Amino acid sequence: MPFSFEIESTAGSARTGVFLTPHGPVETPAFMPVGTLATVKALDPDDLTAMGASMILANAYHLHLRPGDDVVREMGGLHRFMRWDGPILTDSGGFQVFSLAQLRTLSEDGVEFQSHIDGSKRFFTPELVMQIQRNLGSDVIMQFDHVIPGQSDEASARDASERSIRWLARCLAELNRLQNAPPALRLMRAEPDKTAVHLDYAPTRTGEFAAQPQHQALFPIVQGGIHGSLRREAAAAISSMHEWPGYAIGGLSVGEEKPAMYEMLDVVDDALPRTHPRYLMGVGFPEDLIEGVRRGVDLFDCVAPTRMGRNGAVFTHEGRLNIKRAEFRTDPRPLDIHCDCAACSRFTRAYIRHLFVADEILGLRLLSLHNVHFLLSLMRSAREAIRTETLEEWSREWLLRFRATSAIEV
Ligand SMILES: [Zn+2]
Repeated sequence: MPFSFEIESTAGSARTGVFLTPHGPVETPAFMPVGTLATVKALDPDDLTAMGASMILANAYHLHLRPGDDVVREMGGLHRFMRWDGPILTDSGGFQVFSLAQLRTLSEDGVEFQSHIDGSKRFFTPELVMQIQRNLGSDVIMQFDHVIPGQSDEASARDASERSIRWLARCLAELNRLQNAPPALRLMRAEPDKTAVHLDYAPTRTGEFAAQPQHQALFPIVQGGIHGSLRREAAAAISSMHEWPGYAIGGLSVGEEKPAMYEMLDVVDDALPRTHPRYLMGVGFPEDLIEGVRRGVDLFDCVAPTRMGRNGAVFTHEGRLNIKRAEFRTDPRPLDIHCDCAACSRFTRAYIRHLFVADEILGLRLLSLHNVHFLLSLMRSAREAIRTETLEEWSREWLLRFRATSAIEV
């Protein structure tokens, strides 16, 4: 099997494990840096490798609009296009269609919307979203789902959850059709581009230049808003439909209160099979990662570390700080004295503040580098705490220290 998940140790609902993909293993629990447009903003693949990232995320909606998933396929798929050899997960675009795009018309068939870039009319169906992700060639692909605001009432949440389950069945049927279809003749005959030899664009082992992936793991998404009974029903319906390689939990951290989110995670933790990885979508603040790990979540992603970095906000073991503040003007310390990232091991707060205030690109890069490293390293510590059966003490101490100062910073 090209995908497998092996649990190594457990502590309550939390566990460490290895999720194996055709592009290598992912040690879990893991944070996945987000490269929406096939780039983790301001970082290159060598940076990500150096800081220990295993799987990264890209977005089907954004890449479909720009440069076009056909372009990515032509260039040999996402791994080759962006020069990332590790595992890649693509988000289906459900969240973007329902949050970014304008003028939506929802029908059972799919969603018509206007591109947020040029206003052009688009129509996403579960089938098209599978074709897009097939063209991108990511390892893990997500179903197309109907995403609703965090505090939606039960009737709207039920409608969206049930539609997402019907769309899931269509996604699975389409993926099976695509995986069994012979590769396009044009691609079989394509010769490697001689001008690209210096980029090491050799043909694949099968001789296809722009080969399509043999295997992709389709993850269903458990929806249901903040309604426990809906979440339970969705988890039961999804897990009885097929043996999925993993499960995603969607529609959280979208405006609901934190206790409601943690309650839903408890519900889903009990309702989903423990044998497969669970991915909590779009959640990535340090405190949420720890609360998620404690509730049996294995994979996380969030744009927060890079987006916050671009606003001058920094995660540290003592809470959040904002580098813009005047107090850092002559501060000789690194961003975080407990961090060993490439920014903290060389540069002072004073220097990074200067770069940021002067709008220098290096400032944004160093802040992103530190924040992404911080979350990857947090997950390494969580794995260690699970293995050594110290998760409860470790997370209690960590959260106390982090929350004590975060409240007054930023
Ligand atoms: Zn650092």
